[in-house]
Amino acid sequence: MTNLFTALLSVCAMGMVACNSGKANKITTITDSTVTTTTSTTTPAESTAAKPGKMASNAEIMARRQVPILCYHQIRDWKPTDSKGAKDYIVQIAAFKEHIKMLADSGYHTILPDQLYNYLTTGAALPSKPIMLTFDDTDLDQFTIAAPELKKYGYKGVYFVMTVSIGRPHYMNKEQIKQLSDEGNVVASHTWDHHNFKKFQGKDWETQLDKPTKKLEEITGKKIEYFAYPFGLWNEQGLPELHKRGFKAAFQLAEKRDANDPLMTIRRILDSGYWSAKTLSNSIRNSF
Ligand SMILES: [Zn+2]
Repeated sequence: MTNLFTALLSVCAMGMVACNSGKANKITTITDSTVTTTTSTTTPAESTAAKPGKMASNAEIMARRQVPILCYHQIRDWKPTDSKGAKDYIVQIAAFKEHIKMLADSGYHTILPDQLYNYLTTGAALPSKPIMLTFDDTDLDQFTIAAPELKKYGYKGVYFVMTVSIGRPHYMNKEQIKQLSDEGNVVASHTWDHHNFKKFQGKDWETQLDKPTKKLEEITGKKIEYFAYPFGLWNEQGLPELHKRGFKAAFQLAEKRDANDPLMTIRRILDSGYWSAKTLSNSIRNSF
């Protein structure tokens, strides 16, 4: 497992590069005002927003204000053996609590993927200051530390599970994943063993997408409709494979979205282990 973990972190570091470069590609600016749908000052004929029920075009989806989405991995205190690069992916417990408290004190409301999907595709309303909190890689501390902290504020999260790790030491087991789902959080797919999506071929589609979906549906008793790319990496050629399998949306890191398929290239930023609550607050406003 140590080897897998090290491999994850080393390639995840590439994701961080992508994350930083993505900031230069900022598409919209965000103010403190809330995300709202069609305003009452425009008549339906003048409105460019899609009417509820009608699917928006990709251009309309691209034009909507992006909802901030945060990506977490491990929530634990640093060890002397943690590398400098790894610490980006390890948010210490006290810091995590401060960050979540900052979000609550700032008036953010967590939303789940269906709400985001409905907002993007039909213009459905969202709560004021919406934000999505996502957790990748099945780490046990997401269940023991993060989920209870979110619960304090009535927050819900999205857990992107790689199915190979279920039940292994330091990872969540089936019962814990089921409990998160039962408590109103969303469980979603993060492949079988964290292979690079850009390299999928032949049987990989079955191993990395179909089987994990089936396994997670058996565990949760719910349909699995959302996906996160390992390391945030994706390519245009692979996107039809996600559509074919009925995924409604997929999440990357902070690269520019694909204008021809914005639902399959939704952006997220990493909440870094080095960030203060203030830095996080600024990053949320500057990155989306
Ligand atoms: Zn991952």
